Amino acid sequence: MSALAEALIDLEAITSNVRTIASVTGTGLMAVVKADGFGHGAVKVARAALRAGASWLGVTSTAEALTLRDAGVTAPTLSWLHGPNDDFGMLIKSGVDVGVSTTTHLHAVADAARLLGAPAMVQLKADTGLSRNGAAGDDWPELVGWARKYEREGGIRVRGVWSHLADADLPGAPALTRQVAIFEEALRTARSAGLDPDLVHLANSAAALSAPRTRFDLCRIGIALYGVDPFGVSGPGEFGLHPAMTLRTSVVNVKRVPAGTGVSYGPEHVTGTPTTLALLPLGYADGLPRAAGGRAAVWLAGRRCPIVGRIAMDQCVVDAGDLPVTIGDPVVVFGPAEGDQHPPTVVEWARWADTNPHEILTGIGARVAREHLHGRARNS
Ligand SMILES: *Cc1c(COP(=O)(O)O)cnc(C)c1O
Repeated sequence: MSALAEALIDLEAITSNVRTIASVTGTGLMAVVKADGFGHGAVKVARAALRAGASWLGVTSTAEALTLRDAGVTAPTLSWLHGPNDDFGMLIKSGVDVGVSTTTHLHAVADAARLLGAPAMVQLKADTGLSRNGAAGDDWPELVGWARKYEREGGIRVRGVWSHLADADLPGAPALTRQVAIFEEALRTARSAGLDPDLVHLANSAAALSAPRTRFDLCRIGIALYGVDPFGVSGPGEFGLHPAMTLRTSVVNVKRVPAGTGVSYGPEHVTGTPTTLALLPLGYADGLPRAAGGRAAVWLAGRRCPIVGRIAMDQCVVDAGDLPVTIGDPVVVFGPAEGDQHPPTVVEWARWADTNPHEILTGIGARVAREHLHGRARNS
């Protein structure tokens, strides 16, 4: 390989996860492929998810939606984060549904539809307690009222009503019951204003798998699609999801050092005994969080070996102890367990860096080559 590290992406894990999740929810699934498919490659993940029965794709921006369309992916797609002056005409022309949270956006979408002479497909978002996007309080009936007016005039069609949950992944999900109640009230408001949405959706991965009353018509699946347990279980968890990404590299330098040797900047780590240090060509620019220094480990020579000292921009150092390590030896930074190989998981990396698995996956840098596989078979 010419790249110093590669992310192997097993598309069969994606299809297997879609089938697993659909068998739990019994609903349609929207594969959330924002942020380049959580770093896995949006187009390839989208195709795999659709093949396995996902019926919708979810993205956050016009650029992400058009990337799918340019690649020939024509499946129903919802895009939900836009500036007020976004190119809504382009989304309408491309057959992309627009998630609309404010009247400012709704007017702009209706203007674009009028200019184009074609109706926009709109999915109205209610804020039910996350306080991010979506219309809350009195803004919701106002948004709904304008939407109904535009729909009557033929400028838009309100295909969906939806919202997003704040804490479905937490034990007991304390905010969830209240959010569902607010959502149902928002739905009643929309229907009594004359809207008749075909698609009602609220659940993300965690809610889809654990809270039946959040499932409605469609569940928006992000992290679970990529095989990471949304409840922070490090491993297959109770749902049997398969991690799709394996991040691997190889050792580029090896040295035997005496006790008392400082390692990396600072140094924050000094060897306690004579040991073997292995250098990896991966650093924080490649997505190994600096905050994980001193806690993280990798799979090397059949063992978990700790990363010692500070993670630098391009490299980090592993303490291989007395293992027989040589230049070129393969290293798995994270990935699924296989046989007697037990590399760290994305969930563990997230814990080491005090973050969530989403940030680990989306943080894998551009220098890391993505290679897509079908199971074990390569398809590059
Ligand atoms: C990212 C995102 C999702 C996916 O969430 P997961 O918890 O990763 O399943 C669903 N809906 C919206 C609105 C999102 O932004």
